[in-house]
Amino acid sequence: MTASHSTCNCVVLASGSAGRVLGCPDCGAIHLALPNLSLRLKLEELRELSALVGKAQRLLDDAQARLSKDRAAGLPLH
Ligand SMILES: [Zn+2]
Repeated sequence: MTASHSTCNCVVLASGSAGRVLGCPDCGAIHLALPNLSLRLKLEELRELSALVGKAQRLLDDAQARLSKDRAAGLPLH
């Protein structure tokens, strides 16, 4: 098993309003730090999570775009 996160010497890989992604060069752990949630992942787990969230986001964006288009088409011109 890997060392506990408290001993990790993480570097910030990405940072934004949603949170931060940190990586430990010693044990390879990826730390996903969100405002109310913190996840410790392996690189492959982060990859799968990213793909999963990306897929859901694309579906939601497509649905929203379709809904906006339908609403726009249903609105009177004046
Ligand atoms: Zn570590």
